[in-house]
Amino acid sequence: MAPGSLEEALDLRARHGDEATVLAGGTFVGILMNQGFLAPAALLSLRDVAELRGIAVEGGELRLGAMATHRAVERSEAVRSGWPALARAFGLVASPRVRNQATVGGVLADADYASDPPAMLAALDARVLLRSPRGERSVRVGELILGHYETCIEPDELLVEVRIPPQPARAAYRKFRSRSSEDRPCVAVAAVRGEDGLRVVVGAVAGAPQEFPDLCSGEPAEVAAGYAERIEPLSDARGSAAYRRRVIAAEVRRAVEEVSWTPA
Ligand SMILES: Cc1cc2nc3c(=O)[nH]c(=O)nc-3n(C[C@H](O)[C@H](O)[C@H](O)COP(=O)(O)OP(=O)(O)OC[C@H]3O[C@@H](n4cnc5c(N)ncnc54)[C@H](O)[C@@H]3O)c2cc1C
Repeated sequence: MAPGSLEEALDLRARHGDEATVLAGGTFVGILMNQGFLAPAALLSLRDVAELRGIAVEGGELRLGAMATHRAVERSEAVRSGWPALARAFGLVASPRVRNQATVGGVLADADYASDPPAMLAALDARVLLRSPRGERSVRVGELILGHYETCIEPDELLVEVRIPPQPARAAYRKFRSRSSEDRPCVAVAAVRGEDGLRVVVGAVAGAPQEFPDLCSGEPAEVAAGYAERIEPLSDARGSAAYRRRVIAAEVRRAVEEVSWTPA
């Protein structure tokens, strides 16, 4: 199914639910199908839904349509000037070949732990708009991703947009790859220092992005030691739990240092 409008897409989604797999850029769905993990009875492609491709700034807030590609976000003048840390996080995903295809909605809805954008979006306090014929709801990125490949998106809902408040001047994204042949992060750290204080979100180390507001005060090394102790890292081909714990300590400290400069 290839609806040409959002209204039609929402109607098809509500009628078919999870019996039709939503298809955005296909970089995740395609691999699962090729490996035999997924055999959809039907595909609901959002490719022709132009309303979902927009990138706009409204009332100081950045709005990314679910079908905006990573490459479009990375290269957007509006994103680069107002949300440079976000442009960087999207720009560090894989290669241009993947970024030209992968979408904002896809990287959030697939809920793969080893991703870059979710940690940065969570640190920027982004909200995701989920819509169905029943109405619309807005959830924080930290509430959207429940765990490994699991989100709170209902079978009749589509992720339609991501809304991001203005980026404070001090924001940093650090991606640590443990091997040169790897696209995906071993540890991903997003840090933002705004009027509400410091926020630190660590991705790629557990089923969902990790954030501990109670640990976000003190010297960079103290914050980092707190995160390294509190997080229960997973082990995978990119690093054991013990290795990740040490990388978390180093990368959180560096990220917090990056957002702790004082203007001359
Ligand atoms: C070689 C390679 C390297 C990669 N390296 C990285 C990396 O370094 N960092 C990183 O972060 N990621 C990486 N990825 C992952 C990539 O970013 C994701 O696969 C991609 O973002 C998914 O987006 P998509 O548009 O292709 O989604 P699709 O594959 O089309 O869909 C993904 C999932 O989301 C659902 N979905 C999609 N859109 C919606 C929507 N609007 N509403 C509801 N459900 C929806 C689909 O049903 C499916 O379950 C890599 C992928 C590949 C293939």
